[in-house]
Amino acid sequence: MLACKHIHERLNEAHDGELSPLRRMLLRLHLWICSPCRNADCSMKATFKALRGLRDCPPFKADVTSPEKPTE
Ligand SMILES: [Zn+2]
Repeated sequence: MLACKHIHERLNEAHDGELSPLRRMLLRLHLWICSPCRNADCSMKATFKALRGLRDCPPFKADVTSPEKPTE
Protein backbone atom coordinates (compact mmCIF):
# COMPACT_ATOMS: atom_id res chain seq x y z
CA MET A 1 0.00 0.00 0.00
CA LEU A 2 1.26 3.46 -0.84
CA ALA A 3 2.08 5.76 2.03
CA CYS A 4 0.28 9.10 2.39
CA LYS A 5 3.53 10.95 1.69
CA HIS A 6 3.78 9.23 -1.68
CA ILE A 7 0.15 9.89 -2.44
CA HIS A 8 0.66 13.61 -2.13
CA GLU A 9 3.54 13.39 -4.59
CA ARG A 10 1.41 11.33 -6.98
CA LEU A 11 -1.61 13.66 -6.81
CA ASN A 12 0.21 16.31 -8.82
CA GLU A 13 1.14 13.81 -11.50
CA ALA A 14 -2.36 12.36 -11.50
CA HIS A 15 -3.94 15.73 -12.12
CA ASP A 16 -1.39 16.49 -14.79
CA GLY A 17 -2.39 13.21 -16.45
CA GLU A 18 1.14 11.85 -16.13
CA LEU A 19 0.24 8.80 -14.08
CA SER A 20 0.22 5.26 -15.47
CA PRO A 21 -3.09 3.35 -15.21
CA LEU A 22 -1.67 1.09 -12.48
CA ARG A 23 -0.45 3.98 -10.34
CA ARG A 24 -3.73 5.78 -10.91
CA MET A 25 -5.57 2.71 -9.64
CA LEU A 26 -3.38 2.47 -6.53
CA LEU A 27 -3.93 6.16 -5.94
CA ARG A 28 -7.71 5.80 -6.19
CA LEU A 29 -7.58 2.81 -3.86
CA HIS A 30 -5.67 4.83 -1.28
CA LEU A 31 -8.01 7.80 -1.61
CA TRP A 32 -10.92 5.45 -1.05
CA ILE A 33 -9.61 4.35 2.37
CA CYS A 34 -7.75 7.48 3.48
CA SER A 35 -9.82 10.59 4.16
CA PRO A 36 -6.87 13.03 4.72
CA CYS A 37 -5.56 12.18 1.26
CA ARG A 38 -9.09 12.41 -0.13
CA ASN A 39 -9.29 15.94 1.25
CA ALA A 40 -5.91 16.78 -0.28
CA ASP A 41 -7.09 15.39 -3.61
CA CYS A 42 -10.28 17.41 -3.33
CA SER A 43 -8.48 20.70 -2.72
CA MET A 44 -6.03 19.92 -5.49
CA LYS A 45 -8.91 19.30 -7.88
CA ALA A 46 -10.29 22.71 -6.97
CA THR A 47 -6.89 24.29 -7.58
CA PHE A 48 -6.49 22.63 -10.95
CA LYS A 49 -10.02 23.62 -11.90
CA ALA A 50 -9.22 27.22 -11.00
CA LEU A 51 -6.01 27.09 -13.02
CA ARG A 52 -7.87 25.67 -16.00
CA GLY A 53 -10.41 28.45 -15.62
CA LEU A 54 -7.64 31.02 -15.76
CA ARG A 55 -6.23 29.43 -18.89
CA ASP A 56 -9.66 29.55 -20.52
CA CYS A 57 -9.88 33.30 -20.00
CA PRO A 58 -9.24 35.41 -23.06
CA PRO A 59 -5.82 37.09 -23.07
CA PHE A 60 -5.67 40.44 -21.41
CA LYS A 61 -5.98 43.23 -23.94
CA ALA A 62 -3.67 46.17 -23.39
CA ASP A 63 -5.84 48.58 -25.32
CA VAL A 64 -8.95 48.41 -23.12
CA THR A 65 -7.85 51.52 -21.19
CA SER A 66 -7.72 53.65 -24.35
CA PRO A 67 -11.17 53.71 -25.91
CA GLU A 68 -11.36 53.71 -29.65
CA LYS A 69 -11.62 57.13 -31.18
CA PRO A 70 -14.63 57.52 -33.42
CA THR A 71 -13.54 57.78 -37.03
CA GLU A 72 -15.53 60.14 -39.17
ZN1 LIG B 1 -3.36 8.80 2.85
